[in-house]
Amino acid sequence: MDADVAVVGLGTMGSMTAWQLSRQGVSVLGFEQFGIGHDRSAYGGGSRRFRIASPLVEETPFIKGSYHMFRDLEQEAGQQLLSYSGALTIGDPDSQRMKNVMRSIQEYDLRHEILDDHEAMRRYPQHRLLPGEVTVWDEMGGVLRPEQIVIAAVNRARKLGAQVHSYTEVKDIQADETGVTIIAGEDEKEYRVGKVIVTAGPWANKLVPNMNKIYSAQRIIMTWFIPESPEQFTEEKFPNFSRLSGGRHIQGTPAIDGRLVRVSESLERAKYDSADHFDKNVSVEDILGVREAVKELIPNLNPDPVSIAPFMDGFTTDGLPIVGSTSKNENVILLCGFSGQGFSQSPAMGEIAAHLAMGNKTGYDIKHLSPKRFGL
Ligand SMILES: Cc1cc2nc3c(=O)[nH]c(=O)nc-3n(C[C@H](O)[C@H](O)[C@H](O)COP(=O)(O)OP(=O)(O)OC[C@H]3O[C@@H](n4cnc5c(N)ncnc54)[C@H](O)[C@@H]3O)c2cc1C
Repeated sequence: MDADVAVVGLGTMGSMTAWQLSRQGVSVLGFEQFGIGHDRSAYGGGSRRFRIASPLVEETPFIKGSYHMFRDLEQEAGQQLLSYSGALTIGDPDSQRMKNVMRSIQEYDLRHEILDDHEAMRRYPQHRLLPGEVTVWDEMGGVLRPEQIVIAAVNRARKLGAQVHSYTEVKDIQADETGVTIIAGEDEKEYRVGKVIVTAGPWANKLVPNMNKIYSAQRIIMTWFIPESPEQFTEEKFPNFSRLSGGRHIQGTPAIDGRLVRVSESLERAKYDSADHFDKNVSVEDILGVREAVKELIPNLNPDPVSIAPFMDGFTTDGLPIVGSTSKNENVILLCGFSGQGFSQSPAMGEIAAHLAMGNKTGYDIKHLSPKRFGL
């Protein structure tokens, strides 16, 4: 045996899984097709919003469980990875989305404040609110630094003994009753391990058979804007936000570099059968919507984006991730398909995958996330 567990893909989920396994004293072989911290996949772009009060109530326990784990990683790495600025969700109080946010707060007892439109515009004058809109402030929210987090988790795993192979693509996974053979790299070298955890994000359907019908890589575009006065858009004054206002759905993060504010629009996403076909070009039509939204809703930003970058995530047809062993072979564990929502829950998900690989029970309810629901 070359190791107890192989982790295929050291991006968001893979870095956390390798860290969690190594912390438990499990020997790990990690493979990443690009460099650690690369920008071609689901975690690029410099920031991810963290909020616990989620309109997808079922993801709240995983995000809540992740909060302290991000703080643990900060301690171990000796750097700040998640800011303390809170998070705003803004919208029509009668909408299902805002009702779900309130449900998430009540069911999981989250520290929060609810502001009416006048109070919210007094505290956050950067937002132009529509009459009657409500703003929910989630105290434990903040902005995650995704590339630093992936690098910190992989470095911790390495320090604890994990063997990391970057620029090494896994070409095939062959599982049997006694373990798993991994074939990786240009020289197609074989490695033998007890179990494999597939954390290949948008590329998962390239490695796992029979996934194509329920899985796709989808593009999410990020856009950055210049503020009239940068001091109005610091982390302290302008927390990360998500807004559904007058049919426009935008989200964003403050000027963490002291210069550019990110505002992205939730659009219909370009879909790719294979992540290898991902197109990094963005057309003018793709950014006209966010330009209008910025003009209307955050008027102190110059509405023409100064930076535009597309990334992709692995999406399932039901929008929920795939977490657990395959029905064909218990030694193959899938942790993929996070459908645009995964970064905030990644430490808890890494811990769950580590427990499954070690044959331990997890305290989280993951039945609804099983690969078996898709016949995998
Ligand atoms: C633009 C954008 C904005 C987002 N905003 C938020 C947000 O604000 N908050 C939030 O919580 N979530 C957000 N998400 C979602 C979150 O970032 C993703 O769900 C999460 O990063 C997915 O992690 P992953 O590990 O599945 O994929 P990845 O992080 O992409 O990791 C997969 C890794 O596997 C590697 N790999 C693939 N195939 C192989 C192979 N054969 N051999 C070796 N390596 C391989 C890849 O190179 C990659 O490094 C956003 C996503 C996008 C795209």
